[in-house]
Amino acid sequence: MTTETRLRIAMQKSGRLSDDTQALLKRCGLKLNVSDRRLLAHVSNMPIDIMRVRSSDIPGLVMDGVCDLGIVGDNTLEETALERELMGIASGYVRTTGLNFGGCRFSLAMPEEFEYTGIECLNGLRFATTYPQLLKRWAEANNINVEFCLLKGSVEVAPRVGLADGICDLVSTGATLEANGLKEIEVIYRSKASLIQTEAPLSAEKQEILDTLLPRIQGVMKAKESKYIMLHAPKDKIEQVSALMPGKETPTILPLAGRDDIVAVHVVATETFFWETMEELKALGCNSILVMPIEKMMG
Ligand code: ATP
Repeated sequence: MTTETRLRIAMQKSGRLSDDTQALLKRCGLKLNVSDRRLLAHVSNMPIDIMRVRSSDIPGLVMDGVCDLGIVGDNTLEETALERELMGIASGYVRTTGLNFGGCRFSLAMPEEFEYTGIECLNGLRFATTYPQLLKRWAEANNINVEFCLLKGSVEVAPRVGLADGICDLVSTGATLEANGLKEIEVIYRSKASLIQTEAPLSAEKQEILDTLLPRIQGVMKAKESKYIMLHAPKDKIEQVSALMPGKETPTILPLAGRDDIVAVHVVATETFFWETMEELKALGCNSILVMPIEKMMG
């Protein structure tokens, strides 16, 4: 347990999650010096310290209570928890909230010429992977026997150099697989980044900091998924215009100075606002249709 009153958050130092994590914390109003080379970076305007480490160290730091919170990919989290369970080390944590970045899938991929006829044909094959526990769990659940060899990087070259028959790796676009003559055959696990915290309750002071931080994180995520839509609409078409607006929010109708035939319609939309809808609105006589990003949201 950390005894300090400052909340300690572990994040990836550099890699695929670090930019998004840093951007999230900044948008939550945290002032942190990212050029800071120290392991522990102080947030100057809130009682928070950021510990910048390797992604694979984050779950353990939280499970051991060295850090109160951590931002990490679900794949790393699950892999560490399975590994520690196997070794009889404490693996408890609380998933405080899912985050809307770091999306990827953990997939099996085989050389393009491999004839895939179903899961059973993978029996006895050898796979190169960074996450053997996730693969093992999937193989056991599907009643197949696979071997694995552990590689921490460049997993996709393993079949070409004769190290393995196939690979099990993280994929987002599939471009790396394609470039290495591999095809994705099964998705084993879907992952996103998560905010996790220690299983043991936080001290009252730290809980108070988290109670301020968490709504901000949720507000940033909600804002990222939402748009503010503004337009001018003929007063006699309000009902049809409102029906076309995306989302469940009731639009705000505002008068326009010097006009009694036109009103302004404003709405916060959490759903995609399609070009087709804009064209339909225009056909109803609407104009000045603006779709704008939202920076922050609360309530
Ligand atoms: P570290 O080097 O910090 O220990 P790492 O080698 O897993 O960790 P990255 O390759 O930066 O570092 O990946 C960090 C996390 O980003 C992954 O664990 C995963 O959750 C997420 N991620 C999102 N998309 C991808 C992708 N296409 N390939 C790999 N990871 C991805």
